Amino acid sequence: MLQLIADLSFALVMSSSGVGTGWLLNRALVRKPAELPEEQRLAKEVLGRLKELAGHMAANVGKHTSRVEEINQELTGEGQEPEGVISAVARLIEANQSMTSQLSSVEDKLHEQARMVEMKAAEARTDVLTGLANRRAFDDKIATCYAEFQESRRPFSLILGDIDHFKKFNDTHGHQTGDEVLKGTARVLKASTRESDFAARYGGEEMAVVLPGSKAEEAIRYLERGRQAIESARFRSPTSELKVTMSFGVAEIASGEDVPGLIRRADAALYASKQAGRNRGCWHDGKEIRPIARSGEVKPSEKVEAVVKPQPVPQPAPAAAAARDVPQGEPQSPIGICTMSEFNVSLGRRLAEWRRRGTAPAIMLMRIDNFPSLATRFGKEIADLVLRSAIQFLSASIRAMDLGSEYGDATFAMLLPGANTTELIRVAERLRQAVACCTLPINGQSVQFTVSLAAATALPTDSPEDMLARVEKTLEQATAAGGNCSYMHNGREVEAGQAALDRLRTTTV
Ligand code: GH3
Ligand code: MG
Ligand code: MG
Repeated sequence: MLQLIADLSFALVMSSSGVGTGWLLNRALVRKPAELPEEQRLAKEVLGRLKELAGHMAANVGKHTSRVEEINQELTGEGQEPEGVISAVARLIEANQSMTSQLSSVEDKLHEQARMVEMKAAEARTDVLTGLANRRAFDDKIATCYAEFQESRRPFSLILGDIDHFKKFNDTHGHQTGDEVLKGTARVLKASTRESDFAARYGGEEMAVVLPGSKAEEAIRYLERGRQAIESARFRSPTSELKVTMSFGVAEIASGEDVPGLIRRADAALYASKQAGRNRGCWHDGKEIRPIARSGEVKPSEKVEAVVKPQPVPQPAPAAAAARDVPQGEPQSPIGICTMSEFNVSLGRRLAEWRRRGTAPAIMLMRIDNFPSLATRFGKEIADLVLRSAIQFLSASIRAMDLGSEYGDATFAMLLPGANTTELIRVAERLRQAVACCTLPINGQSVQFTVSLAAATALPTDSPEDMLARVEKTLEQATAAGGNCSYMHNGREVEAGQAALDRLRTTTV
């Protein structure tokens, strides 16, 4: 019985710690808030039933105790006849039997509750279609691995996989057959990993495997095993045998990196696999993306032929004040700075993801005001330094999950997943004011510059081009207003950042 109660309280602790971790992850990974009340409701329901059971048990034990005490009184009385003693013992045995049967019925009920808690907890973390862990369970798992990595440097790797040309597959064979094949693919992928690995449906036809304790070399072997198993699998349809292939990207967590950074690298490697022809895997080794041979080997010198320029592993974030230092010599790789083609791909993916399951992306442009005249006045070398310090300002202002890119014409683009209009205004105004307050002492001269910014949130029908066109037009308005200002396009209208900040200040007082 004690063990059972211990098991049950463990199940309850597990379910309530799920709530705790869920909240933390909700803050860290922007999770759908609607999922928490369900857990709380379940925990409350089970607690209510347990209280009821405990109440019944206490009443029954109370009755039993009084009965036993009554019989005891009879037995300790003077001059007991043997028949009286025998009858008292018989009643004692009967009372005990009745108590034992009541306890065993309560034990059954507790077992049933424990099973229900386990079942509901498993349901909340399972993808209904594929039976793999769902995105939420994946977020929890990767956060746990990351915490272990930070505490004890225990490594872990992440494999991201995406079914090739699945849209075409659906168009040809129908969505229902697509569902069946998706289920089969998930089964094959899960079967090709170890018990300790964690396979999840990452979203749509994308799957993820977290490999706790595995360095990249080991993860690469499992990636290749999974890829070949999927390539060889045949899925039965009413009319024929069908097959699909899958492309993969893998990365191992690196020092100074966070979970979004790891996901971004695995995703870049996956994208490189797609670019290189699909049905293959690539590894982001922290510096470059390398193709994985069918043997599971990676040739150190070989680089993948892909449009993607890999993003380096970010170093720990520089102190905010570091942005004020004028970078001398070669600039360090700023956090999250990528090429414009990578930026466009990321924006496209974020828009597609948003339509499927959640967080809307926002973008921002920052342009150095009067850059051509600044270059004429101070010369190319100093103009380059101004450009580099603008990059430093930008990279110090964005979060690890954001992305920045050179947009051309002394303009930079930023992709800020999940940022709302208020956050956008705050980032834009902070950035504008930080630049405006800064004087660069270069070769004995004091160089000052200002920037104009424009931001826009996504609309449901947006393509990356639509969004960029809208924000570019808004930036023109900021430049036309004299520069050193920010403008925000919320999908319906344009508002100046400073006015918006004033409005926010008065509405929050
Ligand atoms: P790529 O090789 O570049 O990945 O091409 P793709 O067609 O697989 O990629 P894209 O992202 O354009 O399309 C993904 C498709 O996956 C579109 C969508 O219909 C399909 N899909 C996503 N989730 C499901 C699902 O649950 N069931 C079915 N049947 N199809 C799904
Ligand atoms: Mg996809
Ligand atoms: Mg696909």
